[in-house]
Amino acid sequence: MRVIIAGGGIAGLTLALSLRQVGIDCHVYEATPRLTPRGLGINLQPNAVRELAALGLADRLARLGILTAKLAFYNKHGQLVWSEPRGQAAGYRWPQIAIPRGWLHEVLLGAARERLGVHAIVTGCRLVRFDARNDKVVAHFVDPAGQPVDEAEGDLLVGADGIHSATRRAFYPGERPVFDGFVHYRGIVEADAFLTGSAMVVAGHRTQRVIVYPVGWLAGGRAVTNWLAYTRLPEGVLSPIEDWDTDADKAAFIDLFAGWTFPWLDVHGIMIDTEQVLQFPNVDRDPIPRWSFGRVTLIGDAAHPMQPTGSQAGSQAVIDARVLTQALMTIPDPLAALRHYEDVRRPVMNDITLRNRQFGPEAAMQIVEERAPNGFARIEDVISREELETISHSFHAAAGLDASTVNGRPSFVPPA
Ligand SMILES: Cc1cc2nc3c(=O)[nH]c(=O)nc-3n(C[C@H](O)[C@H](O)[C@H](O)COP(=O)(O)OP(=O)(O)OC[C@H]3O[C@@H](n4cnc5c(N)ncnc54)[C@H](O)[C@@H]3O)c2cc1C
Repeated sequence: MRVIIAGGGIAGLTLALSLRQVGIDCHVYEATPRLTPRGLGINLQPNAVRELAALGLADRLARLGILTAKLAFYNKHGQLVWSEPRGQAAGYRWPQIAIPRGWLHEVLLGAARERLGVHAIVTGCRLVRFDARNDKVVAHFVDPAGQPVDEAEGDLLVGADGIHSATRRAFYPGERPVFDGFVHYRGIVEADAFLTGSAMVVAGHRTQRVIVYPVGWLAGGRAVTNWLAYTRLPEGVLSPIEDWDTDADKAAFIDLFAGWTFPWLDVHGIMIDTEQVLQFPNVDRDPIPRWSFGRVTLIGDAAHPMQPTGSQAGSQAVIDARVLTQALMTIPDPLAALRHYEDVRRPVMNDITLRNRQFGPEAAMQIVEERAPNGFARIEDVISREELETISHSFHAAAGLDASTVNGRPSFVPPA
C-alpha cells in the first residue's frame, strides 16, 4: 500500500513516521519550498507525548521544551481562581511538554528524513486537486509559482494540509473559517522564570485574556517565554488573515493590558519587551459530517481546525495520525480503515471544537468575572470547589485526557 500525505506539518510528519513504523510506504508533499522552524509556543498533552514516546522522540522533546507541571487560572486582577497539576505531577506516566512549534517540527522532520529518506519528503509541492484512476488516487501539485510540477499515484490520499486544506475544500467547496471577532496577539521573549518555572497561566476572562508559559530554559533563572494576548478586534478594523506569520502592531492592543502587572508576573512588561509580535484571528471551522470519501481522508487542522483553547490542536493532530495508522495496520480493507478512523475520531473532535467555542476548560474564568468583576477576598465566596472541578474534569474526559484512560491503554501503534 502507498499513502500520499499532503502537508508536512505536525499531523503529516507524525503520520509519515507512524506509517513507517508499521511498514506502510508513504510520501509527504509539502507546499512551502523549504521546511524551516516556524511558529511560537505549542503544547503537547500526555496522551500525545506517549505516542511520540512510542516513536522514540519524547525524550528529545522533553529535553528541548519545558515539562509543564501546573495550569493556573487567574482573574484580570491577578487573583488565583483555580490551579491543577499537569503532566506527571497529575499522575500521568508521560509529561506535558511546552515547546516552540518550530523545535517540535524540526524533531519530527529530522526523524522523518532519517527514517523514510530525504526523497520521501517533497517540498514546494502544493496539492491542488486529486482524482480517481482505476483503484488508485492521483494527486496533482503545483510549485510556489503555481506551475504544475508533479503528480503522485497512491492507494490513499491523506489531507494533512492545515486550516486552509485544499483536500477539505474539494469536498466542502465554499466553506470558510468562522471568525468570532477576537484576535490573538502572540509573542515569544526571554524573561525571568515565573511562579514555579514550569507553570502555564491563563489570566482574564472571555473577552480579554492572556496565556503565558515557558517553552525553554535559559541560564540564570531565565526562560524562553511564550504569550498570547486575546482581545476583541477594534470596530472597523479588518480581520487579520489566517496566516501564522502575520506581523502585528503592538500599539493596537498593548494599552489594554496596562496594569496587568501582577506580583507573580509582569504581563504588560513581557509584552513591551517582545520585539516581534504576530497575530492570528480566533478562527475555527464548523464541524463537518464526513472526513473520509473513498480513498481520501483528513487529519489534524484539515479535519478539525479549532480555537486555541485548552491547548489541544497539536496534540490531537498527533492522536489522529496514530489512530489512522492503527486502523491501516489492523483493518485489511484500506477504505474500511479510513471509515473506522473517522468513526473513532470525528465525534470526539467535533465535540472539542464546539466546547472550545464555549471557552473550554477556561469557562471558570468567565463565571468569576461575571460574579466578581472587581475581584474577591476569597474565591470560595465566588465559585465552589465542586463547580471548578466539574468544569475541569468534563473537558479532560471529553478530550480523552483523563489520566486513567491515558495510562491504562497501550499506545495506538506499538513501539517498533
Ligand atoms: C507556520 C505555522 C506556524 C504555526 N504556529 C503555531 C503556534 O505558534 N502555536 C500553535 O499552537 N499552533 C501553531 N500552528 C498550527 C499548529 O501547527 C496546528 O494547529 C496543529 O499542530 C495541527 O497540525 P497540522 O499538521 O494539522 O497543521 P499545520 O501544522 O498547520 O500543517 C499544515 C501543513 O500543510 C502545508 N500545506 C497547506 N496547504 C497545502 C497544500 N495544498 N498542499 C501541501 N501542503 C500544504 C502547510 O504549509 C503546513 O506545513 C502553526 C502552523 C503553521 C503552518
